[in-house]
Amino acid sequence: MEQSSLVLRSLRYLESDRVVTFFSREEGVLTGFARGAAGISSRFGASLEPLTLSSVIGRFHLEGTLYRIHKAAILNPFTYIKSDLDRCYWAGMGVRLLTGLLPPALPEPLVFDIAVDYLESLSDTAASPSFAWIRFATCVLDLLGYQIRADDCIACRDTPRGKILFYYPMDGRVLCSLCRENIGETEEGLKVEVEVLRFLEWIGSKKVAKVQGDVPTVGRSVEFLDRILSCRVKDWKAVDSLPIHIG
Ligand SMILES: [Zn+2]
Repeated sequence: MEQSSLVLRSLRYLESDRVVTFFSREEGVLTGFARGAAGISSRFGASLEPLTLSSVIGRFHLEGTLYRIHKAAILNPFTYIKSDLDRCYWAGMGVRLLTGLLPPALPEPLVFDIAVDYLESLSDTAASPSFAWIRFATCVLDLLGYQIRADDCIACRDTPRGKILFYYPMDGRVLCSLCRENIGETEEGLKVEVEVLRFLEWIGSKKVAKVQGDVPTVGRSVEFLDRILSCRVKDWKAVDSLPIHIG
């Protein structure tokens, strides 16, 4: 079966083969064996390079065995991303988020479309990578059931008082600092500014094409998403620990 797939990882195996992890639109994240695909000078090898959108043909030969990749052809090589170190890092964060959040072989076509959209944004010289990242991470979290909402405080039902709220990433609850003290909530929660939650809610709810928030909000949103992802993805390394420019 031919399927549109994003290559996430690719490891050389012995002399001439590769083990490739790819995100297929129809079948989810799969790991497959590609015989004779080790050389990137070959077309087959080039189509199985990480951060490449390819049409992949293959199948499971026997139940419970490794997927076999028979053929692959490049649909979009994302050459610009691969030529720019900063954009490579941002794209790599996307790969880590997908491999960290998606179980194997579970079809997630909408997440797939957002992932392709993310790489297309990173290929656009005029688009801000950090904004593309915020939109991608927020939309993926939303689709997987971890929507970020700037709701009123769940205890006093009041519009957030003060600038600081506490966000509980495991269930999405929001508490104001006063109620948090009053009800004696012992769990730490994530401290977050109201404007950051509103910014993320707005991005998650719409197809936003261009950055509207100011740069400090973008930077703090990247930080906040990092803290949410640290709760969700094993061994998550913060974006702002990477040598990239936020803004
Ligand atoms: Zn409250």
